[in-house]
Amino acid sequence: MMKQYGKGALHIHTRKEMVDLVVADGHARGIVARDLISGEITSHEADVVVLATGGYSNVYYLSTNAMTSNCSAIWRAYRKGAWLANPSFAQIHPTCVPRTGRHQSKLTLMSESLRNDGRVWVPDQAGDKRPPEQIPEAERDYYLERIYPSFGNLVPRDVASRNAKAQCDAGKGVGGNGQAVYLDFREALERLGHQVVEEKYGNIFDMYRQITDENPYETPMKIYPAAHYTMGGLWVDYDLMSNIPGLFVLGEANFSDHGANRLGASALMQGLADGYFIAPYTIQNYLVEHHHDQFSSAQTSFRDDTQAAEHRYQSFISNRGENLSEQFHHQLGSVMWNHVGMERSAPGLRQAIADLQQLATDFQGQVRVPGRTNDLNEQLEKAARIEDFIALGELMARDALNREESCGAHFRVEYQTEEHEARRNDEQFACVSVWQNQEATVPLNLQEPLVFRAVTPQTRSYT
Ligand SMILES: Cc1cc2nc3c(=O)[nH]c(=O)nc-3n(C[C@H](O)[C@H](O)[C@H](O)COP(=O)(O)OP(=O)(O)OC[C@H]3O[C@@H](n4cnc5c(N)ncnc54)[C@H](O)[C@@H]3O)c2cc1C
Repeated sequence: MMKQYGKGALHIHTRKEMVDLVVADGHARGIVARDLISGEITSHEADVVVLATGGYSNVYYLSTNAMTSNCSAIWRAYRKGAWLANPSFAQIHPTCVPRTGRHQSKLTLMSESLRNDGRVWVPDQAGDKRPPEQIPEAERDYYLERIYPSFGNLVPRDVASRNAKAQCDAGKGVGGNGQAVYLDFREALERLGHQVVEEKYGNIFDMYRQITDENPYETPMKIYPAAHYTMGGLWVDYDLMSNIPGLFVLGEANFSDHGANRLGASALMQGLADGYFIAPYTIQNYLVEHHHDQFSSAQTSFRDDTQAAEHRYQSFISNRGENLSEQFHHQLGSVMWNHVGMERSAPGLRQAIADLQQLATDFQGQVRVPGRTNDLNEQLEKAARIEDFIALGELMARDALNREESCGAHFRVEYQTEEHEARRNDEQFACVSVWQNQEATVPLNLQEPLVFRAVTPQTRSYT
């Protein structure tokens, strides 16, 4: 893309945000965008629309994602009829700098590679508040090595995350709020020496030290799971086209097969494959058949959608609420983390749906957006994104409630083996769970069956 930009073949609107998808006669025909500097709302007509707008981990408020990552593009497309698939599949990464209070606005990922040499442990006794150096070897629980002797600290992300949570829930968590476990390099430093460890992990150790003011060469790191990647997204076919003809979705924004498999796969690989090898060909194929299409309702759709966007932004400003959208984001994150996070249960998910419906109502009545629409106004941008996040959160809870099994990143406490591993139900849930918006009522759930010809899915076991 940047090559084309360099040649002058492409114009990039770096300070514009897509705020709606324009659909005419059932086809994606363009977008409505807001200029982030002037606030001007404009519409843009196109032969196809390609969304590559990333994931929605910030629905949890704190995540490893950039703070501006948001769900609005895919959510607006969903409102216009695009299907959303597997929205509840969210990956929680085990190796992040822990939460320390309400002052944090994002969490930092420590590299997954650290678990190659670092050993994860907690004190044997719940409530042990001694500094790590004062806890003798015999009083430490290297729980991953104990529970999973053949994989040890290298168990997959969801397993490592859930076990960290279990230790903290049992009162063995460390750090000020008991929401962390140790990742200890003492043994690696003895075995490999300071220089080798520095060559392998020096930059990450430096970053950790700058954030926490603790030196991981001398004292164990503290880590805790954090929301990191979302495997759900807009449904696409093998051409990466959504169910709305002319709307293509790439990268983390789509649900795609590669992303769904991310517990053992690479998101960046998916993004590269989508952008280099798939979309350039499939979009061409679409254009061959459709570039002469005439759309009778196009003019009306562009006019109506532009006016609707202007009205939406104006109504945020006109609202006489008390609370900034940040506060609602906090509340949303707390509901999502507690009920739609690493472990889910039917009562918790029902509670989440009720809480989020209430939060959506409170948001509508109580949000305060200072400033003006026709100006640089980060509060206004944020309000629109949080409104969309709250609605998406409810859909995630619905999806998680619907899926009465545990599998991959989705762990329902009711469906686990005696060893606390995910218990699948392939007879009923070997499917993509697809949601279709219905404005006035609950969304419709469609199921796209998954057919396995070469291998049969099996319950994982790492013990
Ligand atoms: C800290 C961290 C480390 C990671 N490490 C790895 C790794 O080692 N290996 C790996 O495979 N994956 C990794 N991932 C995941 C991977 O980086 C992401 O999945 C991938 O970058 C997503 O790419 P994307 O192009 O789909 O979306 P993004 O890179 O999120 O880009 C989306 C773009 O769309 C823009 N946008 C969003 N909404 C709108 C809108 N409404 N209008 C206009 N523009 C919009 C955003 O500003 C952004 O520029 C990591 C992720 C994080 C957060």
